[in-house]
Amino acid sequence: MAKVAFLGLGVMGYPMARHLAAKGHEVTVYNRTAEKADKWVSENGGRAARTPREAAQGQEIVFACVGNDDDLRQVTIGEDGAFHGMDKGAIFVDHTTASAEVARELYAAAKTKGFAFVDAPVSGGQAGAENGVLTVMCGGDADAYAKAEPAIMSFARACRLMGETGAGQLTKMINQICIAGLVQGLAEGIHFGKRAGLDIEAVLDVISKGAAGSWQMENRGKTMNQGKFDFGFAVDWMRKDLSIVLNEARKSGASVPVTALVDQFYADIQKMGGNRWDTSSLIARLEK
Ligand code: NAP
Repeated sequence: MAKVAFLGLGVMGYPMARHLAAKGHEVTVYNRTAEKADKWVSENGGRAARTPREAAQGQEIVFACVGNDDDLRQVTIGEDGAFHGMDKGAIFVDHTTASAEVARELYAAAKTKGFAFVDAPVSGGQAGAENGVLTVMCGGDADAYAKAEPAIMSFARACRLMGETGAGQLTKMINQICIAGLVQGLAEGIHFGKRAGLDIEAVLDVISKGAAGSWQMENRGKTMNQGKFDFGFAVDWMRKDLSIVLNEARKSGASVPVTALVDQFYADIQKMGGNRWDTSSLIARLEK
């Protein structure tokens, strides 16, 4: 069992840290809104620190799961950031969905200070975090990854080193590219079927068993048909992720025209007031 800290007790971080404590790790938590950290400690034991720096001191592994690149910089290299308190030989594992660029920047900063940085974005959503069955995609040095993997598996069902620093974030970008186009296709199919007057539940039931079947069809098809969009990953977060993807594609020269278009469709959803709707809400702009 390890001495660890967890920075960022949001929708994802709160249950991830809980799984670490439940597995017997000694957990110190930090959250910007301190009440959440105090509540976490009252439920799970451990200790709350008042700054990321204080949380990081004396730990073997420091986990983080905050919002975006700037938030991550703030809790690492910012004033009272964790990087000012990390022990030599320790490992910083970042679960934020962020750019490959910030991962490389923080990896280099960590290296000069004598500790390791692993980018480790997750997939599986709130339910995956609550149930401890996330998929984790990592980038960084093999020895640091090997040391961190057993602790990460406290809240994951799959975890893999994808390559050098940034490779975890690049893998997560591919995950989001694959979701974006697929959800739009599913939305168009359901919309088309409704206009044709078919029984959509029957249609989904039969075609999900064939080549058109997907996780999205299985888990979101019926609720999209019913106009229910309250199932986790918010449109605002998806736009943040797609902007990371589009920046990366601009740099690498990759062609992602459907992803760019779907990003604009999500902007339409935001204009409709759907910032907190989940990503399956693409159908709403076809039906309005
Ligand atoms: P969330 O509920 O909004 O939580 C964000 C956490 O980060 C909160 O603890 C927040 O503190 C903290 N934070 C944000 N900015 C900060 C800053 N500048 N300084 C210090 N702390 C800061 O978000 P979430 O849903 O847990 O998502 C976290 C990350 O996981 C995001 O990168 C997201 O894209 C990714 N992700 C989310 C899902 C999902 O389904 N939700 C799935 C996969 C990946 P406060 O409590 O003080 O606001």
